[in-house]
Amino acid sequence: MRLSLISLVFVFIFTLPLPATAEPRNLELLKREIRAYVASGEYDREVAAVAKQAAAWIETRVTKRQPGERLAVVFDLDDTLWSSWPDLKVYDFGWNDATWVAWVEAARAPAIRPVQAVYQVTRQLGLEVFFLTTRTERERKATERNLSNIGCCECTALIMQPEGDTRTAVVFKTAERRRLTAEGYAIIANIGDQTSDVAGGFAERAFKLPNPFYLTE
Ligand SMILES: [Mg+2]
Repeated sequence: MRLSLISLVFVFIFTLPLPATAEPRNLELLKREIRAYVASGEYDREVAAVAKQAAAWIETRVTKRQPGERLAVVFDLDDTLWSSWPDLKVYDFGWNDATWVAWVEAARAPAIRPVQAVYQVTRQLGLEVFFLTTRTERERKATERNLSNIGCCECTALIMQPEGDTRTAVVFKTAERRRLTAEGYAIIANIGDQTSDVAGGFAERAFKLPNPFYLTE
C-alpha cells in the first residue's frame, strides 16, 4: 500500500507539465527551416500565388476605371520586384553596411518573376508604376541599373528615402502614398514583402509577399 502510494506520487510529479521556458527558438534550426522553405519551392509558390492575385485584381479594376482616373500600382523593390536571396545565402542571413553596399552596387539582384509579370501587366494596361523603396538617394544610380538589368526601367517615379531621413519604413512609405493620392493618383494596388510596405492605407488593395528572412519596420 505504501509502495503504491509512493508510485502514485512519482507518477503525479513526472506527469506535471514542464515549466514554460524562456529560451527562444534555436537560431541555427530556424535558419535550416528557412533554407528548406526556399529549397522546397514553397517560398516561390507562395510568392506566385500572391502575385497572381495582384495581377487578377489589377486586370479587374481596370475594367471599372472611371473617366479621368489615374490608376497606379506601387511596388517595393527588395524581395518584391527582385530577390536578395543570393546575398542572404552567401552571408548566412548576416547583414552589415559593407556587404549591403557591395550588393546594391553590383546591381545583380535577380527578378522575382511572378512580380515582374505583375509589373509587365501594369505597363501593358498603361497604368502608372511607382517604385517605392527605403533604399536611399545615394543608391539611386545602382538601383536604376538593377531595374534596367531586369527590364523594369519604365516607371513614373522611383521614390527613394532621402539621406538622413530617420522615419521608419512604414511612416515614410505611408507618407509617400498619401502624397501620390493627394496628387490625384488612384493607387489600386500596393505590393511589398514587409508589413511596413502594406500597412498605413492609401491603396485600394495591398498584397503582402512572404519574407521570413528579415524585418524592416
Ligand atoms: Mg522589400
